[in-house]
Amino acid sequence: MTEKVLLSVQDLKRHFEIGQGETLKAVDGVSFDIVKGETFGLVGESGCGKSTAGRTILGLYNKTDGNVLFEEKNVHKMSDRERREYLKKVQMIFQDPYASLNPRSTVLEIIAEPIEVHKLYKSKEEVKSRVYELLEDVGLNRDHANRYPHEFSGGQRQRIGIARALALDPEFIIADEPISALDVSVQAQVVKLLQRLQKEKGLTYLFIAHDLSMVKYISDRIGVMYLGHMVELTTSNQLYDNPLHPYTQALLSAIPIPDPDIEESRERILLEGELPSPIKPPSGCVFRTRCPQAMSICAEKKPVWKEQEAGHFVACHLFN
Ligand code: SF4
Repeated sequence: MTEKVLLSVQDLKRHFEIGQGETLKAVDGVSFDIVKGETFGLVGESGCGKSTAGRTILGLYNKTDGNVLFEEKNVHKMSDRERREYLKKVQMIFQDPYASLNPRSTVLEIIAEPIEVHKLYKSKEEVKSRVYELLEDVGLNRDHANRYPHEFSGGQRQRIGIARALALDPEFIIADEPISALDVSVQAQVVKLLQRLQKEKGLTYLFIAHDLSMVKYISDRIGVMYLGHMVELTTSNQLYDNPLHPYTQALLSAIPIPDPDIEESRERILLEGELPSPIKPPSGCVFRTRCPQAMSICAEKKPVWKEQEAGHFVACHLFN
């Protein structure tokens, strides 16, 4: 892995005005870098802001504050030409492949669309052979090209979504819960496919997920989000071996272990209550209303984002 920073997210905020003077702070000051060739996992319960962060990075949403730099260029200050280039280099894979594929288009039309929009090939024949090549890249074949999305299984549909995302030869892929809607056995196949494609094509991934189970196998580093904030960030191994933040510990304890003896005897950290509303987040530490280790200072003061050991960051008063 080279150490070139491809994407730099700096104190990014994305707030939504929702009327009556109220503001939903979906992303509220998140910072991380993604190095070329790595997979960065972004994890947290639904409603924590991770998908909004992904969409703001892609430029689908304007930022409220902070910066997103891709190859040192500010994504939200790009000229039209720079933006077109950016949208070739950065692609998204969605959670629900069925909803993201036009049901009335054939697979050929679906995958060819971005190629035609960007006028990458001169003839229809060239476009067609590029689509066949992409289908083979994702483990499908040219016979699938004339079929419609409903003729495929969930896993195959996600492969079609991946082929479409690869059509413009991107450098960076934002995968927004790409396996959450799939059966566990199919999840592993899609993860393996993404890993193979990463090796073959030198891709960089932002892999967004709501739990830590599969993310471990694909991510080099992981950031954990809670209620619009990043609460912990470190390497995948470090996060599993030595999780520091009580929220990370709870997420890890929720992953089932395939050994029944260990599974029966180990302790689960059950989080009480629902995720609070990002419209009225708790004072101090946003996790304090559900934290089993909360102290009085946690309600008074926001914990500082601090590097606890090399490359291992955490925001928690237990370590401030
Ligand atoms: Fe828990 Fe306090 Fe740490 Fe927040 S700052 S995670 S409430 S111990």
